[in-house]
Amino acid sequence: MSIDIQKNITKKKNNIKKYLDFTFENLQIEGYEAVYKITNEKTNLLAIIAMHDTTLGTALGGTRIAKYKSFDDALTDALRLSKGMTYKAAMSEVGLGGGKSVIVIKDNKDKTEKLLKSFGEAVAILDGKYVCSEDMGCTPKEVMVIHEKTKYVVGLPHEKSSGNPSKFTAWGVFKGILATLKKLYGSASIKGKTIAIQGMGSVSHYLIEHLFWQGADIIISDIDETKLKKFANVAKIVKAEDIYKQPCDIFVPSAIGGTINDETIKDLQCKAICGAANNQLLEDRHAQALKDKNILYAPDFVVNAGGLINVSFELDREGYCPIKSRNKIDNIYTSILEIFKIAEQNDITTNEAAIKLAQFKMKSGIGRRADKLYFHHTKEND
Ligand code: NAD
Repeated sequence: MSIDIQKNITKKKNNIKKYLDFTFENLQIEGYEAVYKITNEKTNLLAIIAMHDTTLGTALGGTRIAKYKSFDDALTDALRLSKGMTYKAAMSEVGLGGGKSVIVIKDNKDKTEKLLKSFGEAVAILDGKYVCSEDMGCTPKEVMVIHEKTKYVVGLPHEKSSGNPSKFTAWGVFKGILATLKKLYGSASIKGKTIAIQGMGSVSHYLIEHLFWQGADIIISDIDETKLKKFANVAKIVKAEDIYKQPCDIFVPSAIGGTINDETIKDLQCKAICGAANNQLLEDRHAQALKDKNILYAPDFVVNAGGLINVSFELDREGYCPIKSRNKIDNIYTSILEIFKIAEQNDITTNEAAIKLAQFKMKSGIGRRADKLYFHHTKEND
C-alpha cells in the first residue's frame, strides 16, 4: 500500500496550517503494509495507526485509547490487534482488511475533545485507507467526536447504522460453543454442560441468556462485583482468580487478552476454550500447550467475529441489514468445525489451522470486496 501523506496533507487546502502540525512516521514494520507513528505537538497527540493487510479490502479496526508503560508496548498492541483483524476479516469473508489504532494517553483526563478531534484529522489525512470504530477506552461518545473531523468511521448512531455489536458478537460466541460441544461430544446440546465465563461485560450479558435457556450450568467471574450481582440467580459466582480452576466443559474468556498463558494453563480444568476476548493466547506457542493438555481451543478471531460481520453490512451500498448479519454469523458454527477438522488431519494446533485457512482465503481472494465502502452518515456516497 502506498499512501502519499504529504499529498494528502496539502490536499486539505483550507486547513493547510492545521494539518502541517502533524508528523507521520512510517515505522516500516516487516509483514505490515503501513504502520504510522503520528504526533502533533500542538494537540499532544501520540497515536499509532497500523494497517496489516488490505488484500481483501480496506483496513478497518477499532481505536484503543489507553495508558501504556512504553511506546513499544503500545506498538505491540497495535501490531497484534491489526494482524488479528486481518485474519478475522478474512475468515468471515467481509471484504475488509486488518487495521487498528491506539491513542496513547498518560492519564484519563488527557482524553479531551481536542485530542480526539486531532486523531480524527489524522484519520482524515489517510483519506479512507483506514476506517476506525470503537474499542477499549473509546466508546461511541468518543467516536462521535472523532467523526467531527473524518467520515471514515463506523458504528455511529444513524438510521442505517449497525448499532451495538455486542449482541451479535455474543450470538457468534454461542454458535462457536455449539460447534465446540459438537466436536467434543458428537452433539451440540448444551443441556447439563458446565460453562465457565470470565468477564460479565457487554458480550457476556447477551451470551448468558442463550446459555441459560438452553440448559447450561453456568459459572461466572468478574473483577467488578456489580457486574456479577444481576446474574446471581442464574449462575454460580466465583472469585476472579478461581475461574481457571473450575472443572467445566467450556471455559469462555470474555474479559481481556493474554489470559491463556503459562500460569493459567497449569490451572485449567476445562475440556475446551471458546470465548469473546481478543488475543486470548499470550503467545502463539500457548496453542500448542493447550493441545498438549488435550484442551480443544476454538480460535478467538473466528469465534468473536460477530461484531465485525455486523458492522460490515453497514458499509454496503444498501446499508445495514440485521437479518443478513445474523445469517452470516451463523456460519461461525461450520467455520469452527472446519478448523477443528483441518487441525486434526494435519496434526497442527487449531490456531495454526485457522491462520492457514485465513491466509488461503486471502491468497485466493475469497470474499474480496468488489464495491466501494458506503458511509451512510455522509451525503457523499454518489
Ligand atoms: P466489556 O468491557 O463490556 O466487559 C469486560 C468485562 O471484563 C468487564 O465487566 C470487566 O470488569 C471484566 N474484567 C476485566 N478484567 C477482568 C479479569 N481479569 N477477570 C475477570 N473479569 C475481568 O467488554 P465486552 O464488550 O463484553 O468484550 C469482552 C471481550 O471481547 C473483550 O476482550 C473485547 O475486546 C472482546 N470483543 C468484544 C466485541 C464486542 O462486540 N463487544 C467484539 C469482539 C471482541
